[in-house]
Amino acid sequence: MCGLAGMAGDITLAAEKVFRDVLTFNSIYRGRHSTGMAVVQRDNSTKLIKQLGNAIDFFERNDALQAINAQTKVVIGHGRHATRGQITRNNAHPFLFDNIVGAHNGTLDNKHDIEGKDEFFGTDSEALFNLLDKEGAAKAVPKLKGAWALTWFDYQQNTINFVRNDKRPLWFAFSEDGKILFWSSEVWMLETAFYLHNFKYKAPFQIEVDKWLAWEVPAVNATFPRAKMRKLEGAPERNWNYNYSATNRGSYSVATPYWSVKQQRFISKEAGELERQAEQKAKEEARKSNEAEDAKGEEKPASNIVTLPVPTTKGLFETIADACKKKVERFDNEAPGPDGTILDREGWNRATHNKCAWCASDAEWEHRDEIQWISQDQFICHECLSGPDGDVIKNIATSYGV
Ligand SMILES: [Zn+2]
Repeated sequence: MCGLAGMAGDITLAAEKVFRDVLTFNSIYRGRHSTGMAVVQRDNSTKLIKQLGNAIDFFERNDALQAINAQTKVVIGHGRHATRGQITRNNAHPFLFDNIVGAHNGTLDNKHDIEGKDEFFGTDSEALFNLLDKEGAAKAVPKLKGAWALTWFDYQQNTINFVRNDKRPLWFAFSEDGKILFWSSEVWMLETAFYLHNFKYKAPFQIEVDKWLAWEVPAVNATFPRAKMRKLEGAPERNWNYNYSATNRGSYSVATPYWSVKQQRFISKEAGELERQAEQKAKEEARKSNEAEDAKGEEKPASNIVTLPVPTTKGLFETIADACKKKVERFDNEAPGPDGTILDREGWNRATHNKCAWCASDAEWEHRDEIQWISQDQFICHECLSGPDGDVIKNIATSYGV
């Protein structure tokens, strides 16, 4: 699982605060192995900042804090939970190519099909964006198999783009004045961040399945125009029972807290029931309005998207904010393990008992985000990786499984 977060348009300081929280929620709840963001300025110059570990540590970096300014028009953020590929900074999102910069939530099943001859990428996601860069979305997406929610900025078109299939979520919301667009993998993350910063916004929507949405990024002080939308499906899949949890070997090994059973949300039972009823009603209304629009035969904007009604009571938001803080404390006792697992301290001590495969020194808990796992019980320590021969060691370790 990974998380997508971002914003585009006339970025303000208030918007930046909202974005930081949305990325942090995504990082804590959906992927803490690495955090990254691409910051695109009005002149298209782009700063890519990635680091191992969660977004809270990430935003302690001066360059991460200072990258976003009055000249920024797009910020694409990502919290990674590694499923395919090593946990390294190179494999962190976003990925920058000639024409696009973007981030992916999901896992592809056909990485090797989409890699060109003599091409090799560290992750399925990087291979995906390479294909998107070379061929454009209209040709690239129909070649994909697996799960995806994609966000990318197109330098030629000056557009911010979204497409997802039914295996991954992605939500967006505009500021009340229509000048800033925000997005996140989960809707409560947007709502909570807006609430915490007293930020006025329009109702959030989920990106419709198999629809490509592209918004031109407006000039300073202008509002977003209507999005361009077209159908865009991946490659047909064989109709076996696709079981996400069974194939996702990189899932969390920690017990799922009781409040996150339903889509990692920690709403009370009563609020959940209210929300379910309201969601049902909204779906019904959306269906009716679609039928009405279909009958009129008019061009449809990004409609027939189901609006998930949002908990708006102050108490509920505060509960969310509190729970987030608690969760952060709890995660201080965890570490990334081999194959994308999360280990507690005891489990991590066991997994590292063989010592560094290169220099045979002990693993250090405070550097747990910086070691590289090469098998279930083998790792390379942070000192070997960060030394002058770090890249060479990493390559050898990866190729031969030292
Ligand atoms: Zn070492």
